[in-house]
Amino acid sequence: MTVVAATPTANGHKPFPQFIQEFKAQLKHLFHIRSDINQLSIKRGMPPFILREIMSSTPLSTYIPEQYGGRGGHIHEGLALAAAASYESLPLSLGFGINWALFLQPTGKYGEEKIKAKVFTDFLTNQKMGGLMITEPGYGSDALHMQSSYTTKDGNYHLQGTKHWAGLTGWADYWLLTARQKNKNGKLKRDIDFFICDVSAPEQNIVVEEFYENLGVYLLPYGRNHIDVKIPSGQKLVPQSTGIKMMLDLLHRSRMQFPGMAMGFLQRMLDEAVQHCQERQVGGKSLFNYDQVQQRISHLQSAYTICSAMCFNSSQKAGVENDLAPHGLEANAVKTYVTDLMQSSAQSLLQLVGAKGYRLDHIAGRAIVDS
Ligand SMILES: Cc1cc2nc3c(=O)[nH]c(=O)nc-3n(C[C@H](O)[C@H](O)[C@H](O)COP(=O)(O)OP(=O)(O)OC[C@H]3O[C@@H](n4cnc5c(N)ncnc54)[C@H](O)[C@@H]3O)c2cc1C
Repeated sequence: MTVVAATPTANGHKPFPQFIQEFKAQLKHLFHIRSDINQLSIKRGMPPFILREIMSSTPLSTYIPEQYGGRGGHIHEGLALAAAASYESLPLSLGFGINWALFLQPTGKYGEEKIKAKVFTDFLTNQKMGGLMITEPGYGSDALHMQSSYTTKDGNYHLQGTKHWAGLTGWADYWLLTARQKNKNGKLKRDIDFFICDVSAPEQNIVVEEFYENLGVYLLPYGRNHIDVKIPSGQKLVPQSTGIKMMLDLLHRSRMQFPGMAMGFLQRMLDEAVQHCQERQVGGKSLFNYDQVQQRISHLQSAYTICSAMCFNSSQKAGVENDLAPHGLEANAVKTYVTDLMQSSAQSLLQLVGAKGYRLDHIAGRAIVDS
């Protein structure tokens, strides 16, 4: 028998199928042998050694274009990585998704050359992370009326405002900050601009005023941030038309990529449900034999199938080469429907598991608050 060695991809990365298999094995080892994810998940944050180990295989290289040393940012690979992470931990996958859709993709698509090269190198060699701040205490759905503002002086953009609920608050090394330009009369212009903030650089530090006690996804920090930073001119994103269209393009891409995160989660719900129902004896027979139980399991199977189709659809459409700004209906429907599938699947698993699932240190209970 001839054994053909797998050829490494450009930039010396392992072939993706090998990388993803090893990544899954690494997560299993980290969360079930070196530590116990059920215990980790009742506390906020993550022990530094776990995060260090996860980042040591440079998973975020999947989201970085090939010409900057990454794996190429292919959508199908990004979805597969999100699914591998969410099988073990939904918040870990959400953290990857934030870095991917809310920071790396928009930076790659709209950033200036010099800052892009620096940011991508920092992600690849120093395991840096990035997030996005749009929401303000007074303006959530109504983000177009945000009050964060900027003025231009001495080649810098001076941004001021308050942002909250940004995933990776206090953790991320880079932020995409959003603000409206203030004119000489103190009025805010209609359009929204995006700036790359490097919190380790002078005058770009972001102060976290409060960390929130978020209901689920304990791994991820959220909070309220005070923004008063001076951003160098090369760090403003350059929209192809308006900033609002750029924002829609990136938000819709993020929503189209939700099925990746949902995929691993739904597979886990299904695997847990099948295993539990086969093992649990009620009334002298396995739970699996009851028709109402089978109906719930068939719902879980159909959620899995629908989500697989959505992943395929997104892998065809969500590439950065496409402008997703006009595709709000599809992107919003994908996100809404797939998150409903996640929530109803979590409910099904909790019903099937019964009382022992009604705990934060059980996957069924956690799935309810995380999804
Ligand atoms: C877990 C989590 C993660 C988040 N991550 C980020 C992040 O990374 N970056 C970031 O910038 N923000 C983030 N957010 C904030 C999120 O984008 C906002 O919560 C969202 O935009 C809604 O804003 P709001 O909470 O102020 O609700 P509001 O805008 O006050 O809305 C309240 C309710 O009214 C509904 N509503 C709004 N408009 C209408 C309407 N026209 N008709 C009927 N109903 C309406 C909304 O759907 C909602 O149910 C996150 C929030 C959460 C909970």
